[in-house]
Amino acid sequence: MRVLVVEDDPGIASGLATALRADGHAPDVCGNLAGAWAALRVEAFDALLLDLGLPDGDGLDLLARLRRQPTPASEGHPGTPSDVPVLIMTARDGVSDRIAGLDSGADDYIVKPFDANEMLARLRAMFRRAGGRARPQIEYGALVIDPAAHTVTRDGVPVSIGGREFALLLALLQDRPRVMSKARLEAALYGFGEGLESNAIEVHVHHLRRKLGDGLIRTVRGVGYFIPEQPG
Ligand code: CA
Repeated sequence: MRVLVVEDDPGIASGLATALRADGHAPDVCGNLAGAWAALRVEAFDALLLDLGLPDGDGLDLLARLRRQPTPASEGHPGTPSDVPVLIMTARDGVSDRIAGLDSGADDYIVKPFDANEMLARLRAMFRRAGGRARPQIEYGALVIDPAAHTVTRDGVPVSIGGREFALLLALLQDRPRVMSKARLEAALYGFGEGLESNAIEVHVHHLRRKLGDGLIRTVRGVGYFIPEQPG
C-alpha cells in the first residue's frame, strides 16, 4: 500500500518508513504540512500517517482540509481522495486532542511512543474497514490471504510470494473487480524516486500467475489488470 508519512522528526520518520517497507508498503515521507498537501495533490495514497505538531502548523488542519477540499482527480481516484484512511500520531496525551482528531475525520490514532508493529496492525485494520471487511483474512476461491502474516495458501498449501508480488495481489484483491492500470499499480507498490524497471508490474503478474494459476489475474489489454469479484 502507498502510505504518506507526515512527520517532522527525521528519526521517527525514517523508523516508520523502514517498518512500512519491511511490511511490504511503499512509504513517502513529508516533514511539514505544505509538503504533505503537495504530495496529496499529485499522488493517490492508500493511507496517511499524520503527526499533529508540525513546523508549519497543526496536522489537524491538514486533515480538515483533506476531508473538506477534494484534491484534483487522479487516475482511479476521481477527485475525492478525501476518504483516504488517516491514522494520527501524537505525543500529546490529552484526550481532547484525540477527540478533535477523530471528529476531524481521522480513522484512528496512536499515541507516541508506539511500537511499529502496533502501527502496522492499526493500518491493516483501517485497510480492512476501508475495504468493507471485518475479517482479517481474505478468502478467494482456493486461496486464503493473510495480510498480517504475509502468507498465501492455495487449497491449504502455503505458496511462497515475494513482497512486491504480495502487495500487488493484495491491491488487486482489495479493489476487485476494479481494473487497475500499470501506472496505478506502480504508484501503489513503489514510493517516489524508487527505481523500477518499466516491465516490473508485468513481471510480478507473471510470477503470480505461475504460482496461483492463470485464471486469477485478468488482463484488459492496453488498460490494466483486475481480479473478478467472485472466483470463476
Ligand atoms: Ca512533530
